Amino acid sequence: MPGYPTKAFPPIVAAVDLKAAIAQKAAELGFAATGFTRATLPPEKLAYLQEFLQSGQHGSMGWMETRVEQRAHPQALWPEAISVISLGFSYAPGADALANLTRKDVGNISVYARNRDYHDVIKGKLKHLAQFIAARGEGVKVFVDTAPVMEKPLAEQAGLGWQGKHTNLVSRSHGSWLFLGEIYTTLALEPDAPERDHCGTCTACQTACPTQAFPEPYKLDARRCISYLTIEHAGPIAEEFRLYIGNRIYGCDDCLAVCPWNKFAQAGREQKLAAREDLTAPPLVELALLDEAAFRQKFTASPIKRIGRNRFIRNVAIAIGNSGNPSLLPIAERLTADADPVVAEAGAWAVKRLHGRQ
Ligand code: SF4
Ligand code: SF4
Repeated sequence: MPGYPTKAFPPIVAAVDLKAAIAQKAAELGFAATGFTRATLPPEKLAYLQEFLQSGQHGSMGWMETRVEQRAHPQALWPEAISVISLGFSYAPGADALANLTRKDVGNISVYARNRDYHDVIKGKLKHLAQFIAARGEGVKVFVDTAPVMEKPLAEQAGLGWQGKHTNLVSRSHGSWLFLGEIYTTLALEPDAPERDHCGTCTACQTACPTQAFPEPYKLDARRCISYLTIEHAGPIAEEFRLYIGNRIYGCDDCLAVCPWNKFAQAGREQKLAAREDLTAPPLVELALLDEAAFRQKFTASPIKRIGRNRFIRNVAIAIGNSGNPSLLPIAERLTADADPVVAEAGAWAVKRLHGRQ
């Protein structure tokens, strides 16, 4: 917040070759992009976050309202932090990310969730890199998505890319497909130049959004976003969005996939994140049969496990309803008797829709 007592940046003590050595080590660990910035953010970032929260556009993600000061001020999270090393890890798909959307029998899982939980994969690599720095007697802390850290503004400031009109980071080299991680350190490293906005007159992401979740460029109303609705939102999904969800059963990639900067992205190479065969185009009928134990077994180590069986099967039921595939009627009818009332209601909706009454 304005007036937060940001520490004076000490003289740069770390030589340029140490930055090069860190970047080299990061590349060896598989990171596609590395940038360096100071452990501060300008007051506008806090204002942006506050406006987003006050408008209620974060929906039920109440955790965003906590530790706001720590989000907006890296040194409020860790007072010893002097520099932030921002790291991008590519998960660019090797094939068309939206290929499933026209298939009536399968569900579509967001590209990032088709194998292991990226938090686990990236955190391990960040810890390796942090050890490399700590061996020089410096303090380090690593973060991947879950801590109160404004990852995208820090990445932009560190020169990795810019926050595009879809609000995610876009890189001129890697498109919209970067996982972000950070190392906060006590090292005084020379900051890199920030990246500037290269969206220009493009509006592809806004046009592609099925639910018109962008009230204006660079602003996202999460309450309308299919990623939020299928992952974060508990309980029934409002009927006004169900048709637009189509067969997206976990997340949505539409705005990312249409970004023209993706043409420069090379396919991600981490095997632990490469799409599992059974999650590339999973048959809806098989997913709908998962009970609690089978769900847990199938999604062990997957990010999908976090939302739990019932929320996932709710999404599957909506996709079945949207399939227009009468052969899925028996499975929809079966879901109407599910022990979970939200799943049962979604199953009933699917039955009505398959009968053409929705
Ligand atoms: S993820 Fe999908 S629903 Fe959400 S903003 Fe992007 S295109 Fe729209
Ligand atoms: S699709 Fe176009 S407007 Fe959207 S982030 Fe990419 S370049 Fe920017």
